[in-house]
Amino acid sequence: MTAYEISCNVSSVFDRVAEAARSAGRDPSEITVVAASKMNSAENVRSAIEAGIKVCGENRVQEMLEKNALHAYDGADLHFIGHLQKNKVKNVVGLVSLIHSIDSLALLDAVSKTAEAHGIVQDVLLEVNIGNEASKSGFSPSDISSVLRSARLLQGVRIRGLMAIPPICEDPEANAPFFTLMKQLFIDNSEKKYDNSNMDFLSMGMSNDFVSAIRCGSNMIRIGSAVFGPRDYGSKP
Ligand SMILES: *Cc1c(COP(=O)(O)O)cnc(C)c1O
Repeated sequence: MTAYEISCNVSSVFDRVAEAARSAGRDPSEITVVAASKMNSAENVRSAIEAGIKVCGENRVQEMLEKNALHAYDGADLHFIGHLQKNKVKNVVGLVSLIHSIDSLALLDAVSKTAEAHGIVQDVLLEVNIGNEASKSGFSPSDISSVLRSARLLQGVRIRGLMAIPPICEDPEANAPFFTLMKQLFIDNSEKKYDNSNMDFLSMGMSNDFVSAIRCGSNMIRIGSAVFGPRDYGSKP
């Protein structure tokens, strides 16, 4: 991908976001586009930021630290969106402004303790396994209110909302029922006010289905291939 191609892709994503938001009667500025930059070079990440991307999301801690050392994310916010192992928490807390992928109470507790030790509060989202898939991590929808109650005692975290990766489907509309369930879960749990939580982000929708996700109420989409082109899993360096 050239810088030019990436900038055309970013413009096209922003255009489609704006159209999806308007057709749902929403303000496009409500929707945060997170560029999911896994397996893309620091140079490609910088091209995306130059083209208007304000938030980058990474999946792997090591890859994020390497690119961060190359100043790939300068000028943008950085989020962590992948599965986070407890032994890597110390590398992520404080470096990123939002962790999307809290999938267990033990991980939430570890993030809170690390943040407290640094004297900061880490913003996080709770990952929901909305398709109830054995292959995916995340809380079940019925766990969310009890996690929010437990988090009242965790002074190092602030829960900012929910994230989901529904079953991958060829049909861009096929995940709409899952998105709708997520929106309802988000509303139900935003109405109760708990300490250490401030539910304002609903992170759902990827390259293939973000239009549907926005229509169903998403306000944070994670876009990889529509910005950076298809990932080449075959030729890992
Ligand atoms: C890779 C990734 C994305 C983006 O996927 P695309 O289909 O390329 O847009 C979004 N969220 C997470 C958690 C990812 O790992």
